[in-house]
Amino acid sequence: MNIRKITALILTAAVTASLLAGCKKGAETSEESTEPVVTETSETTAETSETTTETSVEITYTADDLRKAGVNELNSVPILMYHRIYNMKNSETKYTGGNVDKDGYNRTSEAFENDLRSFYEQGYRMMRLDDFVDGNIDVAFGYSPLILTFDDGINDVVLEGWNADGSPKFEAGCAIDVLEKIKKEFPDYNVTATFFLNCGLFHNSKEDDRKVITWLVDNGYDIGNHTYNHVQIGGKSPDEIEKEVGRMYKLLDEIIPGRYVDIIALPYGSPESSASKPEYEKIFKGSYEGFSYTTKATLLCAWTRSYSPFVRDYDSTAIRRIRAYDNKGVYWDIEMNFKQLNDGRRYISDGNPNTIVFPSSDNSKGDWLKNTFGHQVITYDK
Ligand SMILES: [Zn+2]
Repeated sequence: MNIRKITALILTAAVTASLLAGCKKGAETSEESTEPVVTETSETTAETSETTTETSVEITYTADDLRKAGVNELNSVPILMYHRIYNMKNSETKYTGGNVDKDGYNRTSEAFENDLRSFYEQGYRMMRLDDFVDGNIDVAFGYSPLILTFDDGINDVVLEGWNADGSPKFEAGCAIDVLEKIKKEFPDYNVTATFFLNCGLFHNSKEDDRKVITWLVDNGYDIGNHTYNHVQIGGKSPDEIEKEVGRMYKLLDEIIPGRYVDIIALPYGSPESSASKPEYEKIFKGSYEGFSYTTKATLLCAWTRSYSPFVRDYDSTAIRRIRAYDNKGVYWDIEMNFKQLNDGRRYISDGNPNTIVFPSSDNSKGDWLKNTFGHQVITYDK
């Protein structure tokens, strides 16, 4: 913990900081203060035995700022589950909205691009799933985190060829083509996504896939595990699970040693509950042909927003996702989910990944905030 942090603390009397994490807060300033007041503190980290001097400068806001922005880091986060993106207009499909199939697992590039533009306008900013699982939510003040995931690797990164400078040329309208376009247009969107792969990877040639996967992790994207053969893990024997999970990790480790995420998107969302069941322990720890692995989180194939990683009901082994499809605003489609999120249920950031800020009334019984990940906790009166 030799990280030197620079922090500006602007606290008012109305903002109460609890020192749950062994962190210190800076001097408080009067509530009337409108100009930012910068207070530097020197401190020793409590969580490590080594003595580290940190110059701590954190930017927080007045209770009024927090109220106006609706800052609430115990609220929920949308983790979108996409599959294939097809280079199509919505008018070219016979299904609802941007759905390419009856169940809406696959989406048109037109709808996907519109999703991304719409989430941006609604004040969402992307972040890495891996950071979310680690409780490290770094989103600007007043904005909400958004996480994109893609399962199966098909039509997500379709390679057309390689440019003279060694960069990949993507087919128009596949997921990465749209993502890169939006990334250029909105630098503050922090465009990123996690692709969960099976042994077929992105279904380009083997050699191209290895190069393209390296390019992805070099360019801010993540690769995760979706089992080697896309099997339903629920009901499988420990040996089979270890083979499916471990073999996929081993393949990823050969391509991008140590640079994939230790997260599994469970095919078919199965098993729904695994953490306390010994028959599923091989999801989380095992070895395949001498290659040892651990898994720190698993994703369901679910229907709705994820709990904040800080609250009691969050379960890192059963993280919920939103199916990215259209269904006229019912049965947990994108519209329904974002309507609910925007109706007072969305996580709104205080801009500081090292603090957890929320209205005190949201934890009035004292048992809703559960995992602080070592962060400082700040509450305010609504
Ligand atoms: Zn799948």
